[in-house]
Amino acid sequence: MVAWWTGGAWVLYFADAPTLVRNLATFQAPLVAYVFIGLLTFTTYALAGLMREQVCVYMCPWPRIQAALTDEYALNVTYWYDRGEPRASVKKAAALHEQGLPAGDCIDCLQCVHVCPTGVDIRGGPDLGCIQCGLCIDACDAVMQKIGRPTRLIAYDTDLNVKRRQNGEKPIYRIVRARTLLYAAIIAVVGIVMAYTLATRHADGVSVLHDRNPLYVRLSDGSLRNAYTLRIINKSLEPKTYVLSITGRAPI
Ligand code: SF4
Ligand code: SF4
Repeated sequence: MVAWWTGGAWVLYFADAPTLVRNLATFQAPLVAYVFIGLLTFTTYALAGLMREQVCVYMCPWPRIQAALTDEYALNVTYWYDRGEPRASVKKAAALHEQGLPAGDCIDCLQCVHVCPTGVDIRGGPDLGCIQCGLCIDACDAVMQKIGRPTRLIAYDTDLNVKRRQNGEKPIYRIVRARTLLYAAIIAVVGIVMAYTLATRHADGVSVLHDRNPLYVRLSDGSLRNAYTLRIINKSLEPKTYVLSITGRAPI
């Protein structure tokens, strides 16, 4: 039902939605509408219901884009292994502390893995499958609150900072750097171009295409006939009347 509702609803983008819904309900919609609703419901169910994280990891280009955009100072979902390791249950950690041995804050409850939509164990380090949703941060924070330890064992941070903390150095955050300035400039330029295009777009459009086959037809009286396909586009919401006129060489 969810696949039908979300996937099937796509067809409403391609026609007047209220009219199409009425026609669908009264079985008066064109066959192509029903076919596409079936197709989109099936693909949505297959991709989101069955393949799930395989789509995120293997099909979606986002992990590759993200890996290309990121650098050592980029804030990504990061497990603070300096604080979390060596992982041990609450009881075991208490026993280790009593013996004077180190024990980290991670209790190996696997909540961060269970909530991850792509099945990533972020404790293993940055992962191509991570979509930065932050669900593991919330799950781990909830665990930390329950056992009375500081939150943010998983947080938006950098591996560089984790290493610096391990070495007793202060973490560094460089939000403004050449990369972020360049990205901001690119986004600004694209945004301005899009806004300008939107503000100055024409509500009407016309395209004239000369038929290619046959290029022309010789009529019985010897004259030539050329055929054109003319498309007039009205992008406004109101109906319009267009007057078509032709100028140029007079017929021979
Ligand atoms: S941020 Fe989301 S995708 Fe990444 S590891 Fe955590 S839960 Fe998984
Ligand atoms: S939710 Fe936190 S405590 Fe539990 S396994 Fe993950 S990192 Fe460790």
